[in-house]
Amino acid sequence: MPSVLVVEDDQFVRSALIRHLTEASHTVRSVGTALEALREVAHFRFDVVILDLGLPDLDGAEALKMLRSITDVPVIIATARDDEAEIVRLLNDGADDYLTKPFSVEHLSARMAAVLRRTRGVGGQAPPPRVIQVGGLSIDPLRRQAELDGTALDLTRREFDLLAFLAGRPGVVVPRRELLAEVWQQSYGDDQTIDVHLSWLRRKLGETAARPRYLHTLRGVGVKLEPPESAPAAAPEPPA
Ligand code: CA
Repeated sequence: MPSVLVVEDDQFVRSALIRHLTEASHTVRSVGTALEALREVAHFRFDVVILDLGLPDLDGAEALKMLRSITDVPVIIATARDDEAEIVRLLNDGADDYLTKPFSVEHLSARMAAVLRRTRGVGGQAPPPRVIQVGGLSIDPLRRQAELDGTALDLTRREFDLLAFLAGRPGVVVPRRELLAEVWQQSYGDDQTIDVHLSWLRRKLGETAARPRYLHTLRGVGVKLEPPESAPAAAPEPPA
């Protein structure tokens, strides 16, 4: 789960970013000044920093230099100024990428994914999450894309998270508690929440609880995902 530091003094932009990043399963901390940002990176490890250039205490370029003097964390500049010379200078000063405001959350996500991919590929802290392959299922956690037998699946965010989580542990029965905690980030909840999402996911995978292919519900225990080859062809299971 990538952790992000948002450095932005505009409350409105800041809340929108936090909401979006949290929904995209990122851990987010946020501050409104450059000095607070420096304190944050000195105390916590982040996977990426989104740095607004127009901060109340320090000029963005100064803030970037100071950040760079204490950390290698990838920095994406968010700027309202579309000044090519300045952007080039910032990139030379150690920014990893930039976005010109206003930008869409999709644009931000794409830039973040690219930066994370690059930084993790070259001696970064975490290994790059590879494409998960289970039977005919192929799941790319970074691009948040899933395919079944070469056809793209149109999944909601939650369906994708659920599928990716289960596919990351093929053949392992994952207890419902763990699914709630890891996919829903809830310590307790209604079993129905999981069942409903499972049934939607099943439909998109072209299977049913009675005739499972990839998704197997073990009543009272949990859920597992495994390639259809290793599953009994016609072993109806009780509905979830
Ligand atoms: Ca600002």
